[in-house]
Amino acid sequence: MEKIKKIFQAFKNFKISQTVSSDLQCPDCKINLLEDSGYLSLGICSACGHKDTLSAKQWINLIFDQNSFDEKFLNIDSPDPLHFNDSKSYKQRIKQAKDSTGERSAVTTGYGHIKGIKVVAAIFDFKFLGGSMGYAVGEKITAAIDKAIVKKLPVLVITCSGGARMQEGTLALAQMIKTTNAINNLHDAHLPLIGILANPTTGGVFASFANQADILIAEKEALIGFAGPRVRAVNDTEQDRVLSEEILARGLIDNIIPRNELRHYLERVLGLIIANEIKVSAPQASINSMHTHKVSSGWESVTTSRASDRPSAKDYIDQIFSDFIELKGDRNGLEDDVLIGGFAKLALKNVMIIAQDRNGGQTEITKGRVSASGYRKAVRLIKIANTLKLPIICFVDTPGANDSIENERIGLAKSISDTIAELSNAQVETISIILGEGGSGGAIALCCTDRVFMQENSFLAITSPEGAAAILYRDKKHAEDVANALGVTALEHENIGFVDEIIPEPENHSVKTLKEASRFIYDALTETIISLQNQNQKSRLVAREKKWNDLGKNTKFSGKIQRLLLGITRKIKI
Ligand SMILES: [Zn+2]
Repeated sequence: MEKIKKIFQAFKNFKISQTVSSDLQCPDCKINLLEDSGYLSLGICSACGHKDTLSAKQWINLIFDQNSFDEKFLNIDSPDPLHFNDSKSYKQRIKQAKDSTGERSAVTTGYGHIKGIKVVAAIFDFKFLGGSMGYAVGEKITAAIDKAIVKKLPVLVITCSGGARMQEGTLALAQMIKTTNAINNLHDAHLPLIGILANPTTGGVFASFANQADILIAEKEALIGFAGPRVRAVNDTEQDRVLSEEILARGLIDNIIPRNELRHYLERVLGLIIANEIKVSAPQASINSMHTHKVSSGWESVTTSRASDRPSAKDYIDQIFSDFIELKGDRNGLEDDVLIGGFAKLALKNVMIIAQDRNGGQTEITKGRVSASGYRKAVRLIKIANTLKLPIICFVDTPGANDSIENERIGLAKSISDTIAELSNAQVETISIILGEGGSGGAIALCCTDRVFMQENSFLAITSPEGAAAILYRDKKHAEDVANALGVTALEHENIGFVDEIIPEPENHSVKTLKEASRFIYDALTETIISLQNQNQKSRLVAREKKWNDLGKNTKFSGKIQRLLLGITRKIKI
């Protein structure tokens, strides 16, 4: 009895799981969990890592500021539409669940603060009839989301559920539609859903609102899926189970975060996705200096862009943005580490980054080449940015798309086309910067933006100079001549109106001059985002389309030699 009291004291108003409350020993390594501070705070055995499923109250204590959680919608109760009876009646089972958990339903809903940021939350309790979703759960989640829309608050869901509640039949199944509709409304109101998948999350909860989260993370080694191991109709063995580590590798979630890091992680996410409310006037250039762009030949640009010590998009992201939370996966079964992206903070602004990483890719041949999955991820991120009203910044640096047969078979061209369609249609401010190689359609997919910048020595080519030489001369040795003839340099792209601004580079630019180069990009981005945000949205979108429609209409195309002699002096703030 003394031990039980001690547990209750340690957990305040927590209820701990049956496995532990019966013998107080870790079921795996048998240590006394009462003397384990790690277990008492996180529900994880410090000795062997055994993890208990947390109750809703334990989650609230773990995530929210002390005493900040205000429970709402307590009076929504479960109906018994089928008068269901097995060995016990459904009513009896509900009563038992209420008595044993101290909860009124399988989900607790309300408002809470995470490091001072107010959110609406819905937290599942697996000990209440397996966290199953019946009418009351669906209704409470929907009511909470409706409140979030009225109050303009982000929503956090922590799921731990076996799925829809059998005892309510189709009424329970229909909650999948109701809750998903509620998330559609949340997104229409430009508000975010953050999802945490606790162990286990399966069935109708995972297959409805949970999977509509803008950022979806899971616990370590959590069982996640549609069908639980006991009910799977196909390949039905108890050993066939999918854990969070596998679904992360397959692009179905964004990350796995340990319990002890969750609160800090959520604070960062919330800081990066809440609306950009602060209005800033366009900065006055305080220090102007003249920068004369170096006139390079096409081939010089190609070789400089390809230099192995040239900084990658990842290097610039670390240098330019004050925080970056990566989003992973195409939500279609694959993750491509060449296309990286996520939420980031640029000065005072929250933005979405979509970048091609020259060092990403599994082999030397696929290095820097974005796959169909990568472009699908890009489309996903563009949609999230649109929903959350985050300006999009694209970094272009690829020798070309990953055109392996395997990628052809899974729709590479379709994924590039979809990226162009989605980015061209994005309502938010969009900027792209070509950092190094701009290889063909794989690069263009991320260039259809309000503003396009090119670093001084980067290049953009309709196809690789070697590829063009092979087609035209059947000989790759002519690559240099072809590069000089194809109009690939930054200056040539500025002259035809493709590029709005050339961004200077330090002399002999490499990773050693990353800081200086980043400053040029930072200035260009901060000034441009503010000036785009101060424009009327409709006229900005009209101007974006007009730019691409009019490209080439009024350009006086000069000869190659003349173009190369066009060293122009421009004013650039540094
Ligand atoms: Zn243990």
